Amino acid sequence: DIIGSHLYTMVPTEQCEAINDAFSHALTGIAQRFEIEIASRSGDLHYVDISFLPTVVMDNVVGVYGVVKEMTALRHNEAQLRIFQRSLEASSNGVLICEARSDDFPIIYVNPAFVEITGYELEEVQNRNCRFLQGPDTDPAQINDIRQALVQQRDISLTIRNYRKDGRAFWNNVFISPVRANDGHATHFVGVINDISEYKDHENELAFHATHDALTGLGNRALFEDRLQHDVDLARRHHQQLAVLFIDLDEFKPINDTLGHAVGDQVLIHVARRLEEAIRPSDTLCRFGGDEFVLLLPDLDDPHHAQEVAERLLLELAQPYRIDRHELYLSASIGIALSDEALENPAALLQQADMAMYKAKQQGRNTLQTFTYDINQKLTQRVTLRNDLQEAITQEQFELHYQPLLTRDGDIHGFEALVRWNHPVKGPISPGLFIPIAEETGQIIGLSQWVMERAAKDFLKLQPLLPNHCRMAVNLSPMQFHRPSFLSSLRKTLEVTGLPPTALELELTEGTLMNDTEAAIDTLHALRGMGISIAIDDFGTGFSSLSYLRHLPIDKIKIDRSFILNIVESSKDAAVVQGIIALAHHLELNVVAEGVETSAQQQHLLALNCDVLQGFLFAKPMPFEPLTHWLA
Ligand code: C2E
Ligand code: CA
Ligand code: CA
Repeated sequence: DIIGSHLYTMVPTEQCEAINDAFSHALTGIAQRFEIEIASRSGDLHYVDISFLPTVVMDNVVGVYGVVKEMTALRHNEAQLRIFQRSLEASSNGVLICEARSDDFPIIYVNPAFVEITGYELEEVQNRNCRFLQGPDTDPAQINDIRQALVQQRDISLTIRNYRKDGRAFWNNVFISPVRANDGHATHFVGVINDISEYKDHENELAFHATHDALTGLGNRALFEDRLQHDVDLARRHHQQLAVLFIDLDEFKPINDTLGHAVGDQVLIHVARRLEEAIRPSDTLCRFGGDEFVLLLPDLDDPHHAQEVAERLLLELAQPYRIDRHELYLSASIGIALSDEALENPAALLQQADMAMYKAKQQGRNTLQTFTYDINQKLTQRVTLRNDLQEAITQEQFELHYQPLLTRDGDIHGFEALVRWNHPVKGPISPGLFIPIAEETGQIIGLSQWVMERAAKDFLKLQPLLPNHCRMAVNLSPMQFHRPSFLSSLRKTLEVTGLPPTALELELTEGTLMNDTEAAIDTLHALRGMGISIAIDDFGTGFSSLSYLRHLPIDKIKIDRSFILNIVESSKDAAVVQGIIALAHHLELNVVAEGVETSAQQQHLLALNCDVLQGFLFAKPMPFEPLTHWLA
């Protein structure tokens, strides 16, 4: 078809000029070579490489060979390669390519993003194995996984701790894939890496907050329960014992209330650090909120070890705290629970430690207590008593007994009202048992009101049988005394019942007056002003002294029964009682001896100039009816 036609008839018009130029140059004797894109007869585009080779005879160009070479496929591949290369260079994912057929998988290429992420330049990593990305926190198990995948020539994807050139660690999300030849064997591996540290940090942070206490950075209850379950399983498998310590600060609330939350927070942080320093890394220390800390000792060699740890913690916590300009002193109560083989529910350990802590608190704080099933029983008893108490108040299961107080000459000085609880099922329950519970729950308020009214009414009925100046003594609980409405409700009771204030005596313990002294003294003055007499009960068992009482408007002290008990046998007790009586008289206070049971004790007390005596020797506390007979 083309023989005889002009070359240009085969060339698209746009290309004519270029071809013409080249041809003209070829005619001057200079070989030409160029590439153009031309359409075939059917319209397909072809890349062609054209050479014009002049044929020179005797310095004359007599013709031109034109050689046209099909380049389409080659150029196409090249273009594609260029696109791939551009994409690699522009990618924000780090890419590295390494040889698959050399034993050590040397790197042959890394892209700019790889350089950006890792800090290594291509020249630094070329021909090296990429293990330079590993560091101290790289998980050896993951390295092994990668090695396995390379050997088996398969894909692998994982998130691994890697290290940059400057030593900083990062979370690397890696995908490695083999590049296979036609025979199916890998010639190369391509690795795509991504720095996901930021995302991972955020993820970790979220996980951290869900399981940690924001103030101290210690684990929280959720974390503790998780560890407890785990450690209990472990201990069971290895037939080991573990311990849970429940640590509760004593008197933390007053610090918070008086010095402010900022100081309170500092105290908690200090406490957390001290506890942390005193334990082993394998122990778990958590804060449950407030001033409660819980410690898990996972593998005890010896159960006594838990007590030793607790003792050490108590010592540590008792050191003074320097916070701002305050020097603070704290103590803690610690409850210990030890696991045994029979333990079914790990959470029970926590409960037991909590109960033991409660017991420690009752024993006067700054102490530790190990859980026993006995404690469990007592606490359950408390809980049921607490419930029963509510009913007792509404159903009036209480009764007042009266114990006479006698003067030196055996005359009636007055009575002390002592409450009794006749439980419909359990029988009589000692006030020593239920009064502290009622105080804790606040039920004491209703109960005290009832006691006051009943005592007042009964006293008025007795009055015709009594000498002048007799008083009815009623015990006051601290909570009752410190209520803002105490004075007004007392006045109201006196008014309603008609009991003259001069017929009333109130018994308070030293502890009641120690708290909040200013307000307490004001209240005492007000009572005194009304004509009510005030006695300090259980004298000698508290921590205050007569020199302290000197400033208080009181009338009487009641020496605690424990001093009277051995007054005959123990010259030491006798000396203490003698001292108390002498000093009290010096301060113009009346002295009552409680718990006089024998006439020997009575003689002794009379010899020491005691003013008033009370005890089983003269009369036990008795209900109203028998009391009237006794009086008669
Ligand atoms: P308390 O105020 O020290 O009362 C004296 C306790 O000693 C009474 O025990 C009384 O029965 C007992 N007692 C008296 N003489 C003798 C004796 O010769 N030998 C012995 N071994 N004991 C004697 P009770 O009635 O069991 O009361 C215990 C505590 O309960 C009282 O100690 C008091 O603190 C509290 N309490 C009793 N009634 C009330 C009340 O109505 N209100 C408040 N807040 N507390 C009360
Ligand atoms: Ca009393
Ligand atoms: Ca007493």
